[in-house]
Amino acid sequence: MKSLVLRRRLWLLLAAVLLVLGALLGLGLSRDRDRLEAQELDRLITQTRVIEDNLTRQLNAINQSLLAVQRVLPYWQSNPVGHIEGRQTLENMAAAVSSVRTFLVTDAQGVVVFSSREELLGRNFFHRDYVQAPLKTLDPKRLYVSQPFLSVLNNYVINFSKVLLDDKGQFAGVVSAAIDPVDFEILLNSVRYSDDMRAMLVHGDGQIFISQPYTGQAPGQDLAATPPSLSQHLRSQQALSHFNGVLDGSKISRLAVIRTLAPVALAMSKPLVVVLDRDLSVLYRSWQQAVLAQVVGYLLFVLLSVFGLSVFQRHRAQKIVTAKRLKLATEASGVGIWEFDLVTKHYQWDDAMFTLFGLNPKNAGARNDEWIGLLSPQDLQRMREATRVAIKQDQPFKMTFQIRRPDGQVRFMRNRAALYTDDHGVPRRLIGATEDVTARKLEEAELRVAAAAFESHESMFVTNAQVEILRVNQAFTALFGYAASEVVGNNPRLFKSGRHEGDFYATMWAELQEHHSWQGEIWNTRKGGEEFPCWQCITAVCDEAGLITHYVATHTDITLRKAAEDEVKRLAFFDPLTNLPNRRLLTDRLVHAVTHAKRDKGHLALIFVDLDKFKPVNDRYGHAAGDLLLQSVAHRLRTCVRESDTVARVGGDEFVVLLDGIRQSLDAMQVAEKIHAVLLEPFRLMSGQSVHISSSAGIAMYPEHGQDEATLSHHADVAMYAAKSAGRDQYVVYDPALDQPVAVRMEP
Ligand code: GH3
Ligand code: MG
Repeated sequence: MKSLVLRRRLWLLLAAVLLVLGALLGLGLSRDRDRLEAQELDRLITQTRVIEDNLTRQLNAINQSLLAVQRVLPYWQSNPVGHIEGRQTLENMAAAVSSVRTFLVTDAQGVVVFSSREELLGRNFFHRDYVQAPLKTLDPKRLYVSQPFLSVLNNYVINFSKVLLDDKGQFAGVVSAAIDPVDFEILLNSVRYSDDMRAMLVHGDGQIFISQPYTGQAPGQDLAATPPSLSQHLRSQQALSHFNGVLDGSKISRLAVIRTLAPVALAMSKPLVVVLDRDLSVLYRSWQQAVLAQVVGYLLFVLLSVFGLSVFQRHRAQKIVTAKRLKLATEASGVGIWEFDLVTKHYQWDDAMFTLFGLNPKNAGARNDEWIGLLSPQDLQRMREATRVAIKQDQPFKMTFQIRRPDGQVRFMRNRAALYTDDHGVPRRLIGATEDVTARKLEEAELRVAAAAFESHESMFVTNAQVEILRVNQAFTALFGYAASEVVGNNPRLFKSGRHEGDFYATMWAELQEHHSWQGEIWNTRKGGEEFPCWQCITAVCDEAGLITHYVATHTDITLRKAAEDEVKRLAFFDPLTNLPNRRLLTDRLVHAVTHAKRDKGHLALIFVDLDKFKPVNDRYGHAAGDLLLQSVAHRLRTCVRESDTVARVGGDEFVVLLDGIRQSLDAMQVAEKIHAVLLEPFRLMSGQSVHISSSAGIAMYPEHGQDEATLSHHADVAMYAAKSAGRDQYVVYDPALDQPVAVRMEP
């Protein structure tokens, strides 16, 4: 806005300057013209005066001649040889007065009685103006001036005449001199100093007598009849006038000076008028050329100055735009610009610098060096050293330092500065840019932390959004066996094991997309092909727009944990001595088996087996031997049943066999018999001794002896005790008749 106003002002100023210059130029030119005209008028007037002087002298001479004739005429007329003398005298006078062509004398009838030219004698010129005018007024003192006329000698002439009176004062004729125009032509020509200049001798009534040059203005032409200039002059009765305009019918503008010649002493009847003029177009030609040159020069100047100003404006506008852009850029970048005058030691800051340092520009001193107090002494020392080196070596310098701003904030600043020297190579200023790099410093620190964290003991890899591995850490290499170069650019499906169903991975990806994280147990494959369990965490990294840019996956090898878990599971569900399922697992399987049997209308049998007189074996051979025997029992029991059947150890020497999917109770009894038989086989102890033992068993069957697990177990137990009670070494099938179990004594 401000610059627009300034722009307009500059244009207005230029316009004003150009206008003033134009006006001055116009004024100067107009003055030149006026001066030219005035000078020309002066010259013309001078020239008319020259004519006037010359003409007056000639007129005087003519007048004197006429007067002389007037006086001597009576003598000529009275003397018998007077006519000869008279003619002689007139001839002499005509020769003496160069401007007179002919002298003549007429009588009262206008007949030529004396003449300087013999051929005119006797001719009658009574009708001539130069006879008629004196005749009318009869003034002997007056010098009559005739209008120009074509004489009998075929010349345009003017006659000057004086009246002759007889003794009675009556008209007796005239004495007249015909003016030779040639002489006047020479006179008029002599005052012309340029080709366009015209000199005219005009009769007081307006008829041209002589015009030099002749072009256009024939003698006899009436100038007073055409434009008003000459008649105006004549009317005004002024001796001298001048005008500027068209004088005759030629339509050429002229600067003219008109002078009336009528010396009082001559008492001329009509004045003679001298007109000197110049063609204005010629007169002003050089001036017009000067005008043209100056106008062209002026226009060129106008063009140049307009062009110059527009170039300047454009340049200035560009500079403003550049400055604005720089300001915006520095403001946007948060970079402050400063200058340090090496001579005055003053700092000059832009607004951004004050903002960066948390200082108020209003409180800044003349040197503006308050910021130095915000630096630690060490940083200040470094800064001074860097400045010193920069000046000495004429090299730009960079340094990062810390400040504690007045508001208490600690910020990291980065300075870049360059040295500016004057034309003599003397360093004058340091110009620099300062930016707040606190955030970058923190980021760098965070990056260092992240890098350190990345190289943790936990296996980790990072992929891009296209799930191509970008980097892996050393723990990954240790865990998976792949070097970074072997996996970078690959998809992690490289580690896929065959242990998961297809939808496992689909579910994992769906969750990742939705919640941006997934964790769980997964089986991966090492480089050697070995599959191992992992606890895998995948986190999606998003950009500011929420779009996933990376995935970070960490893996913990849970092989050991898995093993530990299996062990716990084994301890919970299996008998540690024999590795057979314990009571809990048995119960579990029994519940399931009952459920299935119910659904499938199937059959199952539960056989409780207790060793007979086992305690004494322990007592006799030791507990370890007892344990070994129990393990052997377990082993033998497994040989008696199918894979799908369960053999469990539920107490010290008490085992349970669950037969799943039998067709009839006979099947169960066959198994019971087989068990009984295998357990009767002697057991070889470590010591080499052989031990014989028997067993008692009780059988309960589904659905005959119970509809649920608890009833079945109880009844099998009841049957087993019944066998014991019946003397051991036998099995008993539970009889629904309570307390009436049927004992089957096995024959040894
Ligand atoms: P009965 O014919 O009435 O069954 O007499 P028994 O001696 O077998 O006695 P009972 O079944 O009541 O007791 C089982 C004995 O088994 C008790 C104990 O000494 C022994 N025993 C229990 N658990 C273990 C074990 O884990 N290892 C060893 N070696 N012996 C055990
Ligand atoms: Mg026992």
